[in-house]
Amino acid sequence: MSPQTLIFATSNAHKLEEVTTILDNKLIELKSLKDIGYDQEIEETGATLSANATIKSKTIFDTTGANVFSEDTGLEVMSLGMAPGVITARYAGPQRNADDNMAKLLEALSDGRDRTARFKTVLSLIWKGEEYLFEGIVNGTIATEKRGGTGFGYDPIFIPYGYDKTFAELTIATKNSISHRYRAVMQMKSWLHRTLV
Ligand code: IMP
Repeated sequence: MSPQTLIFATSNAHKLEEVTTILDNKLIELKSLKDIGYDQEIEETGATLSANATIKSKTIFDTTGANVFSEDTGLEVMSLGMAPGVITARYAGPQRNADDNMAKLLEALSDGRDRTARFKTVLSLIWKGEEYLFEGIVNGTIATEKRGGTGFGYDPIFIPYGYDKTFAELTIATKNSISHRYRAVMQMKSWLHRTLV
């Protein structure tokens, strides 16, 4: 059987690379928004991660009619009432700057409150016109300062449970084998295997 085409509705090159290594290319031929020539910004106006994931996948499905998935990720800090959550990308303002976001979070935790946190990914797959949702979570803590140079976003301040390094100090292969996104994509991959094989 030849691979089925699946669009990943993202313009984030890091995410694309992570997901490409996880999906089975004998089963799925992954295409990015760049590959299909879609260069418009999709506004994430939803009140939840799943609403935003759905907005992105539905926008591309409505334009192309093709099988598509998108994901939305939030960092949730328990002692901050699960903030920044759905506004993780814009925590320090509309400039969506990772250093500003991390500085704001470190400041919010500087009063000694608990640093337990988790990354949560919600993935929306639209397959033959029907939507399926998958979720992935990685638990951990927020470091007291930025450490490490790989990855993106909040990676320099997130320490997954079972490790003493931040995501940005771990190798990309290690991060990709335990991350929130890995776990959500694996759920989708199992579903695709059951559906296609
Ligand atoms: P979005 O899912 O692209 O909207 O990302 C939401 C926010 O979470 C952005 O600030 C991203 O940089 C951040 N983010 C998403 N995934 C990761 C990750 O794997 N590591 C660190 N930060 C992430």
